[in-house]
Amino acid sequence: MYDIQLIHIYGSSYFCSGKYAVGVYLDKSSKSAILVDSGPDEHSARAIDQQIADQGYRISAILHTHGHRNNYGGDRYFIERYPEVRIYSTAAALSWMTHPDLEAICCGEIPSFYKNREMPPVTDLLEERDGPLPIEGIKFKVMTLPGHVPGTVGFVSPDNVLYCGDAVFGDKILKKQSLLLYTDISEAKRTFRKLAEAEPKAYVVYHGGIYYEVSKLIDKHLGRMSQLLMLVESRIKQKPVTLEMLVKQIMAHFSLEDGLEPYSLTSHIVRAYVAELLDLDRIRARVREGTLFFEYREPNNGF
Ligand SMILES: [Zn+2]
Repeated sequence: MYDIQLIHIYGSSYFCSGKYAVGVYLDKSSKSAILVDSGPDEHSARAIDQQIADQGYRISAILHTHGHRNNYGGDRYFIERYPEVRIYSTAAALSWMTHPDLEAICCGEIPSFYKNREMPPVTDLLEERDGPLPIEGIKFKVMTLPGHVPGTVGFVSPDNVLYCGDAVFGDKILKKQSLLLYTDISEAKRTFRKLAEAEPKAYVVYHGGIYYEVSKLIDKHLGRMSQLLMLVESRIKQKPVTLEMLVKQIMAHFSLEDGLEPYSLTSHIVRAYVAELLDLDRIRARVREGTLFFEYREPNNGF
């Protein structure tokens, strides 16, 4: 059983304690509750629902920050319990939810198409741009926060609390994990600046809970990113490598255990750094005898 408590932040804005900081907004006049993401599964959804029902509220809307399973795993429970619930996501996040195999493809795994596929119960598509998001007269705002996975957004509550999903990770994750999942490094860096400049009353980090300022957290993220970029570049500089070789080297460097999950995560992340180095024109891709290699590109070499 999940031990989940509602933690008050400011005004009508709350978040759930526990591993995943699901956002909660309780509108006193309508007695309706708005969630930001829905937790990983039915069990956590039931525990969240219990907390909200105990306060005399019904869930009327769920806003999704992005399409990872642990962000929308509670949707099925909520739609059965509240058939009229509105579920919001960007089109990119919806594609991710509809086709979980996209993730396998991005990780270099063999996708198992159409297995366990079910249409996510999204009712309202969000445009990927900053702007107001009125929900039954409650003035939320959408803030685009690209970098983690395609279609990532955050939501600002009427109390100016910013629910920022996985745009940044909390200190516990930083301590536990050497590698952080960002699929677009340049976009993630722009998002960090945007988060710092937003200056909300509080940030709710999905894997980390509440933060009142994020500059130290962001500095740690930036440090990790530049170290990993240098590491990947130095390996490619030593000799041309394939993606598989790079994944192996990075897993060994960080002493990651063999297993599909660490492999997939590393593979996904390595691709992002290789893409960044290609964008920066510091490496190039070349196919030799049917194998894709990445090789260092000497500066000022005329290309
Ligand atoms: Zn995520």
